Amino acid sequence: MLTRRSLLASAALTVLLATGAQAQDPLKVVASFSILGDLVHQIGGEHVALTTLVPADGDAHVFQPTPNDAQSVAAAQLVFVNGLDFEGWMDRLIEASGYKGPVVVASQGVDPIPFEGDEEEEGHGHAHGEHAEEGHGHAHGEHAEEGHGHAHEDHADEGHDHHGVDPHAWQSVPNAEIYVKNIAAALEQADPANAAAYKANAEAYEAKLKALDAEIRSAVAAFPEDHRTVVTSHDAFGYFAKTYGLNFVAPEGISTESEASAQDVAKLIDQIRAEHIPAVFMENVTDPRLLEQIASETGAKIGGTVYSDALSGPEGPAATYIDMMKNNIAMFSAALK
Ligand SMILES: [Zn+2]
Repeated sequence: MLTRRSLLASAALTVLLATGAQAQDPLKVVASFSILGDLVHQIGGEHVALTTLVPADGDAHVFQPTPNDAQSVAAAQLVFVNGLDFEGWMDRLIEASGYKGPVVVASQGVDPIPFEGDEEEEGHGHAHGEHAEEGHGHAHGEHAEEGHGHAHEDHADEGHDHHGVDPHAWQSVPNAEIYVKNIAAALEQADPANAAAYKANAEAYEAKLKALDAEIRSAVAAFPEDHRTVVTSHDAFGYFAKTYGLNFVAPEGISTESEASAQDVAKLIDQIRAEHIPAVFMENVTDPRLLEQIASETGAKIGGTVYSDALSGPEGPAATYIDMMKNNIAMFSAALK
């Protein structure tokens, strides 16, 4: 049977033979979630056969890999992860798959935001700090119970002492530029024959990211100074807040693993009323019901759906990283301007 991959491979072969280069199959690459998958696709192009584990609209915080996912990892030549403790299930999946190749942490080199300790300084509410603490302990406890691998047990042991980090670094475009540099470097090393193509793709894409960053900054500059706080489902926008100067509050912490407590929700409702926060935003990866309830109790309007931890499907408004960021800023602009 002639598969799509072999069609692509034979097309590549024709091109390579025509240019006198050595023919080869596309590099088999796995990316842990859809946003990272798009970045890898932008740089790898047709030289990469990409499998994305957590699909569009999927929640990586609570993802449960299937035997199919283990097969994809086993067959890979290169695996990309976000890191910053985003994919708690990844170590176990890699161990189960028997994969021994490189695991590239795309966020390597970003300045991580701690989620315990200095919430007050950064202007997040009190509820946020308490929530992060609770969520952290609980999540690690669960991992430890389920954990078959050593990595997770070690992690759980450290969990109660170390201060965790916010994993959602891609929500700041300058961080996405760091991801792109890491992705390009890893592809160049794994597949030197196509290094020039990866380098060129990365340069072209970085120019688009710079334009995107400027677009977001000018959109935020148009928001009134005292009208820059919005509500989302979980704390996925810390890096966006830090880079662009919006404030976000959320009933859930930096992971969706633990549900918001009634007390957290009550505090948030008080805060929305006291600060006249105008809008709450659904996230594509979380259940909308809690936010609908918060909106109806406070009179805040529902500002639409933002994409935090996953892209939309190909027909949706956030099918690529750049479209996702454009969609989100358009939603915030409509509510805050
Ligand atoms: Zn998240």
